[in-house]
Amino acid sequence: MIQLPEVIKNAVEALTRLPGVGEKTAFRMVMSMTNWKNSELVSVGSALASLQHLKLCRECGMFSDADLCSICLEEQRQSAGILCIVENASDLMAIEKSGHFKGLYHILGGVLNPLLGVGPDELKLDELKLKVVTKNIQEIILALNPSVEGDATCSYLKSIFPQSVNIERIGFGVPIGGSLEYLDPMTITKALENKKRF
Ligand SMILES: [Zn+2]
Repeated sequence: MIQLPEVIKNAVEALTRLPGVGEKTAFRMVMSMTNWKNSELVSVGSALASLQHLKLCRECGMFSDADLCSICLEEQRQSAGILCIVENASDLMAIEKSGHFKGLYHILGGVLNPLLGVGPDELKLDELKLKVVTKNIQEIILALNPSVEGDATCSYLKSIFPQSVNIERIGFGVPIGGSLEYLDPMTITKALENKKRF
């Protein structure tokens, strides 16, 4: 069997780290890229490399070019007193796409998972707790995905916020074990409308 050059093997291996890309697909991609001009390869390479400089919004944790993201810069959202807590940036974007949420977001960066060593400290829940008070948040929408860990995290979050805060969780239309990022905007809109007191 023919031995392929190391550079091809390395490129295939690098691409298989992407979600949904298996070895076969990665190989096809690399084969196609062997026909690219040098300048094209360099521009794709440097676009990926510049991801290392990606900044996160200091308030919500969303990707941002500046200190604050475009959502946190909106005066109306800052004064709305509503905070939507999501697991990751993809979930935030899915809710934002539905266009029905007009408050602030907070990206948790995961859910509590004792088996994987993810506890309240890893999710910086003390900071979140402080934010709820300093931002005068009156309503919290828990938009965590329905799973054992998601449910446990919601219960924990409820216990750390002031009693005066109205806490709701989206649920309707979100399949068990499903992920917000794969839902269509209409389903997310329905899920937001049908949130229940948690
Ligand atoms: Zn932000």
